[in-house]
Amino acid sequence: MKTFHVDADGYYGNFGGAYIPEILHRCVEELQKAYIEVLESESFKREYDELLRNYVGRPSPLYLAKRLSEKYGCKIYLKREDLNHTGAHKINNTIGQILLARRMGKTRIIAETGAGQHGVATATVCALMNMECVVYMGKTDVERQHINVEKMRMLGAEVRPVTSGNMTLKDATNEAIRDWCCHPADTYYIIGSTVGPHPYPDMVARLQSVISEEIRRQLQEQEGRDYPDYLMACVGGGSNAAGTIYHYVDDERVKIVLAEAGGLGVESGKSAATIQLGREGIIHGSRTLVIQDEDGQIQEPYSISAGLDYPGIGPIHANLAREKRAEVLAINDDEALEAAYELTRLEGIIPALESAHALGALRKIDFKPSDVVVLTVSGRGDKDIETYLKNMPR
Ligand SMILES: *Cc1c(COP(=O)(O)O)cnc(C)c1O
Repeated sequence: MKTFHVDADGYYGNFGGAYIPEILHRCVEELQKAYIEVLESESFKREYDELLRNYVGRPSPLYLAKRLSEKYGCKIYLKREDLNHTGAHKINNTIGQILLARRMGKTRIIAETGAGQHGVATATVCALMNMECVVYMGKTDVERQHINVEKMRMLGAEVRPVTSGNMTLKDATNEAIRDWCCHPADTYYIIGSTVGPHPYPDMVARLQSVISEEIRRQLQEQEGRDYPDYLMACVGGGSNAAGTIYHYVDDERVKIVLAEAGGLGVESGKSAATIQLGREGIIHGSRTLVIQDEDGQIQEPYSISAGLDYPGIGPIHANLAREKRAEVLAINDDEALEAAYELTRLEGIIPALESAHALGALRKIDFKPSDVVVLTVSGRGDKDIETYLKNMPR
């Protein structure tokens, strides 16, 4: 049977693999050898499940959104990752990886962050586990995302502003990899999405797969069948989407719709729609689709949502799109804003701007009244209130 999960070499079709400097080969190999055994061990599962339940607040609710359903003429359930501790799905991953780091005997944690959400989730688990934490963040982002920088510092992390390149996420990532090359023995690099060299995409997908595991159980309880007709999620690097679809990806009854950030429009030159605009290349140690110019220089992406503002995409999703297993729609800034206001007024839920892109895809699909749709609300909108107020739709 055809499967959309990773193969033994870390590939999803043509995409994935581990393209890393020589000096990291041992580190990455060590991780490749360790991760499945650790993640599947009883002691890991016990500690991980306990923290997800009592620290994060899982299971997150699967909420039947009645007024939204009425508007779109189908049955829409929202998977409420916005209700997690720290306000998004990212904590599912950082808890898992820090438990792995400890079991591998590492004492120092590094991470990269763009908007600061992954940095905060990493600093949070480092405080919890009493580990040293260094977060690389482009200087431009340090200035744009001041509150998250202060949160990380309050949590005890050191935030290192990066001044190379455009001083954004891509440059922070390069700097984190450089740090890892200098401290391969004691340092563990927590990557925040289904990106990076193998085994990161598969590992992060597994750690987020608790989302679809819960969906299956909750749908069975509420709907009397354990699968939906549609699964919908937004894609930056792809981790909340990977978690949402993990247990359904080989189930052809389930349609998968992913929303990437169109920015000001796919053809505007100000976009982060990697599936529509990207060509094959290497970014962050992985072969995937990359927004690049004629010479292969990675181009600065744009989206109103900092969490989707990434010039690559996870190899899992590049493959799902190429194989037409997933439909990928580009949702523009204005469409996401409108969808966020709509959810707020219909259901009393202020979503993260990233999640609003998934909501913006609802109006692009022709649903039947009997369709059961599960849409993941990846995070809450508190961090985006200023942007929302500045851009009130008419
Ligand atoms: C970071 C973030 C995203 C994008 O990351 P993925 O890895 O694609 O899930 C989406 N939503 C929220 C709320 C985020 O913080």
